[in-house]
Amino acid sequence: MIGVTILGATGTIGLNTLDVIGRHPDRYRVVALTANRDVERMAGLCRQWQPAYAVMADADAAEQLRQQLGDCPQVQVRAGNEALAEVAALDETDYVMAAIVGGAGLLPTLAAARAGKRVLLANKEALVMSGRLFMDAVRDHGAELLPIDSEHNAIFQCLPPDHQSRGLAAAGVERILLTASGGPFRDMPLDQLAQVTPDQACAHPNWVMGRKISVDSATMMNKGLEVIEACWLFDTTPANIQVVLHPQSVIHSLVQYCDGTVLAELGNPDMRTPIAHALAWPERVAAGVEALDLFAVARLDFQPPDMTRFPCLHLAAEAMHAGGTATAIMNAANEVAVEAFLDQRIRFTDIARVVEATLAQGRVEPATALETVLAADAKARSHAHEYIREQAA
Ligand code: NAD
Ligand code: MG
Repeated sequence: MIGVTILGATGTIGLNTLDVIGRHPDRYRVVALTANRDVERMAGLCRQWQPAYAVMADADAAEQLRQQLGDCPQVQVRAGNEALAEVAALDETDYVMAAIVGGAGLLPTLAAARAGKRVLLANKEALVMSGRLFMDAVRDHGAELLPIDSEHNAIFQCLPPDHQSRGLAAAGVERILLTASGGPFRDMPLDQLAQVTPDQACAHPNWVMGRKISVDSATMMNKGLEVIEACWLFDTTPANIQVVLHPQSVIHSLVQYCDGTVLAELGNPDMRTPIAHALAWPERVAAGVEALDLFAVARLDFQPPDMTRFPCLHLAAEAMHAGGTATAIMNAANEVAVEAFLDQRIRFTDIARVVEATLAQGRVEPATALETVLAADAKARSHAHEYIREQAA
């Protein structure tokens, strides 16, 4: 039996992971579940899955969960960052699903890598913040890193199994074609973008996701984060990655080889496919996903992204180019801006402005120590908050 810890169990990815695990009770066992403050949902999950540990983000939420779980004394309820890192590194845990949203996931995801676990990485922000540090931890501690992000999982599947040791060029790879749906505002007249509401931004045409990544998809910062994620995962640069708008989200990404071959991974847009792939790799298990009906899909469209509509795409590529702590600064500013947009304190089009202003203000340093990354993150958050307050005044 493979023991699994799910960081961010109450979220979209967490629940989809439990759905796949539930289809294979002979293979996988839930060891620990974690959540932010959603006590009700967490209590239900603990009753259903009977994990050895349940971790909430703060002591207050943990106490509420303890009270609700009077009938499940075997579930040890804990709270806080240290407990999160501990359940990511337990001896009983073989695989860690990193599905906390945002920078809050960095420390426990890194703890899983440092404990040599198989890390199923959904929490792209953790890798965007820590880049080289994270990849070095994976290598130095013999961890396995499997991408859950559908595009990166597709790329992983289209690459030869030894791409990590050989490198992309030696494997004959010329470019990565990273697909993007373009989100809900792909075709909206530009002058209407400033007026869109959080609910409109969260109504993604093809995928059901948490609110933060939904807004990121609407600004295409999500694709910017994914370009950076791909650079670290596959040891390449933005120059070798072409973003391709593909509204149907049926092709999840492609790899172009030097002999003219282009390999793609196709499927219905359902995160249970990459989750099942990463759980079972190199084997395959059923995911509960309907087979792709090509006759129903009928056509596949492609177009280049429009940089005027999606300035975040450009900001992300620039941050990657600047290197060091620049991507951590950008990620922090974006998290603050998205939260402000969801709270209706800023407009949709202000998100890119907040990121740009914060990047301009931040001092980029080499990201060689975790403390430097965390300090850059904290400073960028305070700069972004300040910028938003000034704009509102
Ligand atoms: P979500 O908002 O649905 O769930 C987030 C989870 O993290 C919840 O369990 C929540 O309780 C927990 N959490 C939030 N803040 C926390 C904090 N401060 N401390 C501890 N736990 C906290 O998000 P999601 O859509 O499941 O996305 C999770 C991650 O996966 C994100 O990084 C996202 O970019 C990535 N991802 C998601 C999808 C998708 O289809 N949903 C696809 C690709 C990648
Ligand atoms: Mg994705």
